[in-house]
Amino acid sequence: SQEDTTLHMLFFPFMAPGHMLPMLDIAKLFSARSARCTVLTTPANAALIRSSLDRHAIQILVIPFPSVAAGLPDGCENLYSVPSPELEPNFIKATGTLREPFRRVLDELLPDCVVTDMFLPWAYHAADELDVPTLMFTGLSFFAHCCFDSMAHNDPLGSLPAGEESFAIPGLPHNIKMFKSQILNLARDRPDILEVIVMSKEVERRCYGMVMNTFYELEPDYSKHYREVVGGRAWHLGPVSLCNSDATEKSSRGNSVSDGYESCLSWLDTKSPGSVVYVCFGSGCHFSTAQLREIALGLEAAKHPFIWVVRPRGEGEEEESWMPEGYEERIAGEGLVLRGWAPQIAILSHGSVGGFVTHCGWNSTLEGVSAGLPLATWPQFADQFFNERLIVDVLRVGVAVGVRSMAAKHEERELVGAAGVQRAVRRLMGSGDDGEERRHRARELGRMAKEAVGSGGSSRFDLDSLVHELKERRIGKMILK
Ligand code: UDP
Repeated sequence: SQEDTTLHMLFFPFMAPGHMLPMLDIAKLFSARSARCTVLTTPANAALIRSSLDRHAIQILVIPFPSVAAGLPDGCENLYSVPSPELEPNFIKATGTLREPFRRVLDELLPDCVVTDMFLPWAYHAADELDVPTLMFTGLSFFAHCCFDSMAHNDPLGSLPAGEESFAIPGLPHNIKMFKSQILNLARDRPDILEVIVMSKEVERRCYGMVMNTFYELEPDYSKHYREVVGGRAWHLGPVSLCNSDATEKSSRGNSVSDGYESCLSWLDTKSPGSVVYVCFGSGCHFSTAQLREIALGLEAAKHPFIWVVRPRGEGEEEESWMPEGYEERIAGEGLVLRGWAPQIAILSHGSVGGFVTHCGWNSTLEGVSAGLPLATWPQFADQFFNERLIVDVLRVGVAVGVRSMAAKHEERELVGAAGVQRAVRRLMGSGDDGEERRHRARELGRMAKEAVGSGGSSRFDLDSLVHELKERRIGKMILK
């Protein structure tokens, strides 16, 4: 019967916007390919997920999250709502306690496949005990996977001559040059996630394969390198955010929680094509008061209209202490400061936007690329310094703000002065200094991104082959029963 050949997928996303949003998009892709999809999450995330999945026949299941027991505020169930970076380790620890409830859900549902996140690697073990295959999602590019792998296996920093600051990542296609100070040392900088990452690398080797939010044409050399040298089986399904683009549906992708969705888009309507710079540093970026002030002054001095997303400050920090005296009156009409959650995809795809200042989170990078925009790169941590090299050196669609080092603690971050911000925005939006060519290349990539997910495209092909393969596996198991 029809029911017998219907694929049942269980999605278990890590609770942080940069991981959850793309995985929900992946669920929509499978659902559109007639799979029965279930998303497992916690109570406080369920509302957001429900609004993102509005109109999609996707089931949502909820298990409790031990926020209070983990020393977090009640209802704090997403990395985005953790009030200060110091509490992030508590959050990571708390997710580890979901193993048992996950196991019970799995026992009951017995799906054909589990899709889970690198930060929930134990989900693989639970699924493996029941002979349910696991697809892992990391939210990283192929390029970043290749860089991390090379760093782990070659230790180029260990053999770097004293006094030498810059080095090339060994064994990778193209000459990828980095500064020593841009490399994360997990054991030193993030002991709280070390154990999870180690377990996750192991799972990456053993699981059924990787689902990747990227497209072949964006990083063909690294896609091949990953499949042939670094990892194993992988399917590229991206840019997954494009599955929302028929969506005048405002609720898609967390827009229902966005601040001023309507007013922000109608503000953009009053601007000329390609004139506005959009500035946003993802969901997890805490800037110091001093840094926020420099950004404010730099954006004002650059004299391009802008939308700047400022993350709400932590408890106890004075809300607007960073804002220069009389700032909002001075920038009125020319600059929009959005506090909280911005409707990023809608903004990026608005014709008035001409450039994106980004922290190089992989989702933001892909969303900028999909919108055909040039990027100004301002990485903070994790894979972002690698992504910057892909954007600036390999794809040549970006200008670097010029951050030299990754800091373990946000208060130790390098301060970029107003002049640096102004310079980057001028280069990004101007026509000199390779600006026209950069914009042209960005538009071409945007076109290729849309082709990849369209009919006959490379990402559509990978999705179809993955669905086909999982279906065959299901039918095979039924016959054996
Ligand atoms: N995002 C958004 N509004 C915001 C900030 C972020 O919609 O105000 C979305 C953005 O579109 C992207 C995700 O949140 O899909 C952030 O993921 P990314 O990998 O860029 O960065 P992270 O937050 O993981 O550092």
